[in-house]
Amino acid sequence: METTEKMKYDVCIIGAGITGAMTARKLAKYNVSVIVLEAADDVAMGATKANSAIVHAGFDAECGTIKARLNVRGCAMMPEEAKELDVPYKMCGSLVCAYSDAEIKHLETLYARGVENGVPDLKIIGQKELREMEPHISEEAVAALWAPTAGIVCPYELCIAACENASINGVVFKTNFRVCDIRKEDGIFAVSNGTETVYASYLVNAAGVHSDEIAILAGEANFPMHIIPRRGEYMLLDRSEGNTASHVLFSCPSANGKGILVSPTVDGNLILGPTAKAIDDRDDTATTSSGLEEVQRGAKHLVPGVNTRAVITQFSGVRPTPVGADGDITKSDFCIFISKAVSGLLHLAGIESPGLASSPATGEYAVALLAEMGLVLTEKETYQKGRPEKIRFRELDDAERAAVIAKNPLYGKIICRCETVTEGEIVDAIHRPLGARDLDMVKRRTRAGMGRCGAGFCSPRTVEILARELGVPMTEITKCGGNSVILNGGEK
Ligand SMILES: Cc1cc2nc3c(=O)[nH]c(=O)nc-3n(C[C@H](O)[C@H](O)[C@H](O)COP(=O)(O)OP(=O)(O)OC[C@H]3O[C@@H](n4cnc5c(N)ncnc54)[C@H](O)[C@@H]3O)c2cc1C
Repeated sequence: METTEKMKYDVCIIGAGITGAMTARKLAKYNVSVIVLEAADDVAMGATKANSAIVHAGFDAECGTIKARLNVRGCAMMPEEAKELDVPYKMCGSLVCAYSDAEIKHLETLYARGVENGVPDLKIIGQKELREMEPHISEEAVAALWAPTAGIVCPYELCIAACENASINGVVFKTNFRVCDIRKEDGIFAVSNGTETVYASYLVNAAGVHSDEIAILAGEANFPMHIIPRRGEYMLLDRSEGNTASHVLFSCPSANGKGILVSPTVDGNLILGPTAKAIDDRDDTATTSSGLEEVQRGAKHLVPGVNTRAVITQFSGVRPTPVGADGDITKSDFCIFISKAVSGLLHLAGIESPGLASSPATGEYAVALLAEMGLVLTEKETYQKGRPEKIRFRELDDAERAAVIAKNPLYGKIICRCETVTEGEIVDAIHRPLGARDLDMVKRRTRAGMGRCGAGFCSPRTVEILARELGVPMTEITKCGGNSVILNGGEK
């Protein structure tokens, strides 16, 4: 990093969702200084936190789009990426189910598109094979498009892991930094949150649902796209229902998107959703009774016996749907391009689905574009491809458990009974790179509080551990930053 009277970086990335995180991880291989600015108090707090968690195979995107290319490549990269980052990932395959001759015709279109996009091993299967693969599928489903390379991953864990990896390789992260002003000073970007300014030669706009606003702040007077926020609501079912489906189950897509799906998660739950509703407020992640009714209807269309009473939580995420000048959302592509209006500016904007599946390839492509823009890249000899070891006590056998407890007795204390999370894991989550500072950060890093009791039992203990490890009073510990304090009044 060049040091003048002000700290100047080679690259500043705005947004620590999966797009910014994977770009930071891929840039961290090189001798360049990088800073990531994130408005929220943690990474992975935008669309990356709340989505279907599917690594799509790549037959959905129109042929010839950036989306199609990055999806297929990202899906192919994901197994190695997840392995390097020690993130749970499962290549379980996906099935798009057809209920009529017209829908079978649509499967044929998807099949042909997938083949042209380069998706391997696609196959249209009949009802018998479908029912053998998915015994609970609706008897009215008569055929399906089988894509064995599709998979599932934990999206926020993938993002946190990519950020941890970037961090140990020298990338600087600033959270609670909402960019509100961008200027060019002597050819250098001055990026400010109103109280602090960061300087960089290259600027990467990875601000998700706010990426069109960032483009305008950066000087794009005629940015060719604006974002329509479209919310998707979900229900997450208890692990008891995890075996209801073994593959990602889709209905035939419509102009509105891929429709409601039923899918296992890497943690053994079952996820149902999402809806697709245009909303006004880009950050409105509420759930609604009508939305959740639609989720249940859509899930029962695929799996009539799905036990929606076993819901343990509901949530929603907002898609950054990019709309071009003609206002047609069905033709949308990822808005990834080098700005012509502002030199040194790269847009990774309007990345809606399959942005998660594409993310390793998007990061790789972003680095190539930065090189094209003039960023000099030489490989870093000290680059580490992984992240610090993470112990998942729940997944260990008895002998392995005994060994980790012998090394550190805190792994012998269960704090979250639903998810079998130990004090050792919570302490580790607090002291890792980009460590947890509130209850939800602990939850996303360890799963403490993710279970069916809704964090009722473990929260008080986690608050104590956070306060002890961070050296602050318990009254300062929050649920999710800001004013979300948990305890009022004095401590005894
Ligand atoms: C309902 C739904 C279902 C989906 N399902 C799938 C799926 O199954 N598979 C798949 O591949 N994709 C899926 N996607 C798409 C995927 O989630 C997104 O493409 C991906 O998460 C986008 O990542 P991102 O980093 O571009 O954006 P985000 O994750 O939204 O990150 C952008 C970040 O920028 C930050 N930011 C914004 N403004 C500022 C500012 N002014 N200053 C600083 N920081 C700022 C935000 O806080 C945020 O953290 C789904 C999306 C939704 C909403």
